[in-house]
Amino acid sequence: MKRLLSTLVAAASLMLTGLASAQSFPDRTITIVVPFAAGGPTDTVTRLVAEAMSKDLGQQVIVENVGGAGGTLGAGRVASAEPDGYTLLLHHIGMATSATLYRKLAYDPLNAFEYIGLVTDVPMTIVARKDFEPSDLKGLIDYVKANKDTVTLANAGIGAASHLCGMMFMSAIGTPLVTVPYKGTGPAMTDLLGGQVDMLCDQTTNTTKQIQGGTIKAYAVTSPDRLAVLPDVPTANEAGLPGFEVGIWHGLYAPKGTPAEVTERLSRSLQVALKDKNVIDRFAELGTVPSSQEDATPAALKAKLESEIARWKPVIEAAGQYAD
Ligand code: ASP
Repeated sequence: MKRLLSTLVAAASLMLTGLASAQSFPDRTITIVVPFAAGGPTDTVTRLVAEAMSKDLGQQVIVENVGGAGGTLGAGRVASAEPDGYTLLLHHIGMATSATLYRKLAYDPLNAFEYIGLVTDVPMTIVARKDFEPSDLKGLIDYVKANKDTVTLANAGIGAASHLCGMMFMSAIGTPLVTVPYKGTGPAMTDLLGGQVDMLCDQTTNTTKQIQGGTIKAYAVTSPDRLAVLPDVPTANEAGLPGFEVGIWHGLYAPKGTPAEVTERLSRSLQVALKDKNVIDRFAELGTVPSSQEDATPAALKAKLESEIARWKPVIEAAGQYAD
């Protein structure tokens, strides 16, 4: 009886400590893992959101880049992190595509995380090094078909958004190209600027400034309409690839088992961050908008991930390209 009583007291005090720490959350620095190298689109989006969340939470929110294997290394790191709200993951559509692309994943994308909310949905751009010969999308398609053994297409690893867009492009033109994987768009862009690689399909959050500055050449955007920041760049749909539309949605996650009070607090903070003027303005300059307040919620992100895994599974299975 005495032992039972002391076990009960210990259990109750553990619960109270958990509750107290959830209530005082956060009382130290939070780390958001970006599963790609620094300097890329996911990194750019995360740093802007982290800065605004930090203001709201009254604690530092720092970014750690864990690139490699199309985002699965960083996601795996967070899946096995302490579920206390101090280690988070900001990942994009790759969370859904890697669920099918990788035959062996160290985590189950649907069940290894708690959901915080959607962050943004970013269009892609089909771009090339600035001195690449073709001058428009139709010319590009003819050129790469005629030179398929020498044209190189960069991506940020299998499961990355750029990999997905590259696969869509190759399947739309019916021609496989030589692909070159990087740990993120940051290093891929460095090589595109240096002319070491020919082409890339990647988010506007990383290509807009380069296109505007003329340091890379743009052939198309993958949004349904042209973008205000890139008015001269046609949509893929209008320029020769009918139906070629894709948006790269991003979400914020915590490891499975993170207390609901903590994920709710983080979700409220994400909502505040997405209304922050600096975030709205900078996103607009980069060709995107923050997710709505309703979408910056755990339920919306969970529903999005579930529907996107189901949407991409048959497409990836039909392409038959997997990673081990
Ligand atoms: N944009 C990259 C991708 O293709 C990742 C990144 O560096 O943000 O998924």
